[in-house]
Amino acid sequence: MRAEEVIERFRRTGALLEGHFVLSSGLHSTNYLQCALLLQHPAEATRFGQALADQFRDQRVETVAAPAIGGLIIGYEVARSLGARFIWTEREAGLMTLRRGFTVRPGEGVLVVEDVITTGGSTRETIETLQSAGARVIGAASIIDRSSGRANVGVPRVALATLDVPSVNPDACEACARGEEAVKPGSRKK
Ligand SMILES: [Zn+2]
Repeated sequence: MRAEEVIERFRRTGALLEGHFVLSSGLHSTNYLQCALLLQHPAEATRFGQALADQFRDQRVETVAAPAIGGLIIGYEVARSLGARFIWTEREAGLMTLRRGFTVRPGEGVLVVEDVITTGGSTRETIETLQSAGARVIGAASIIDRSSGRANVGVPRVALATLDVPSVNPDACEACARGEEAVKPGSRKK
């Protein structure tokens, strides 16, 4: 799947908005990305899962692992497409942990999948958790890379599209300077 097609599918499902937004961080941005709005459509999730799986087909992935919640749907679809097992990590007392009886065996080939990589933090933590448990982490994959390719997670990493979402302080925001009102995504206010 080409990057342009990925972005087009995000736009069409309302998962990528363009305008003037207040992000949850309080920063302003001209883009807003909400993967859940794409992944609410199972057919899209399956298609994106196949596209990511295609990049790892010859690498003997036995298990796909994802950080909850963001990685669950896309990770499951990647696992389905690879005929692999699917497990997830979740935070317990702030630490990314394998719970619910999930285990990996020593040397097990694992692929880590997330919806969006921004800093790479949760992917990195998931990789460390799996490695401590003895797994061999083959690589990491996300639908979107918001790090402009910069996030380093210590294993080979792929993304279907790279997206620069510039976010700035309201004082430095050009749209604010033009007097345009910023919108909080998810609110009904226009
Ligand atoms: Zn602004």
